[in-house]
Amino acid sequence: MAASEGASLYDVLDVAPSATAEEIRAAYRAKALASHPDKAAMGGGRDAGSFRRVQEAWETLGVPQKRMEYDRRQRSSEAACAVTWHDELPLAAMDVDEGEDGQREFSYPCRCGDFFEISGVEIESITKTWTSGAVVVPCRTCSLHIRVFLPESCTAETGA
Ligand SMILES: [Zn+2]
Repeated sequence: MAASEGASLYDVLDVAPSATAEEIRAAYRAKALASHPDKAAMGGGRDAGSFRRVQEAWETLGVPQKRMEYDRRQRSSEAACAVTWHDELPLAAMDVDEGEDGQREFSYPCRCGDFFEISGVEIESITKTWTSGAVVVPCRTCSLHIRVFLPESCTAETGA
């Protein structure tokens, strides 16, 4: 499961994400040499795709601008992961939409592309019956959930 996304470009070149440009260049040269199709063919045709992967990794990591963009994408996908897997956030962090009927809809983006969503009515009914100041909101599409903390004023209304 961990490998479902495939190795990172850094893994392909066998360098740390913090490697310097020189280290990446050296790693690329060594890998390209070792995985070159001519050489691989002589060696019994092992993994013909690895030379291509090394080239692709180099085309991104060897260009500072592309490497920066790649790093940023990697970081944001990790952040998305952290947020959507049983994350906890205040209700105020969710986006609020007012529907045609005047009802508020709270939503928060899920990494699957859909949204965690709960209506103001649901929150009201929950705060009336629960003493807890938090509510678990499922994604509309996938199996992820977030825990949303309700503001003090909301739970205060439930009365003690
Ligand atoms: Zn989802």
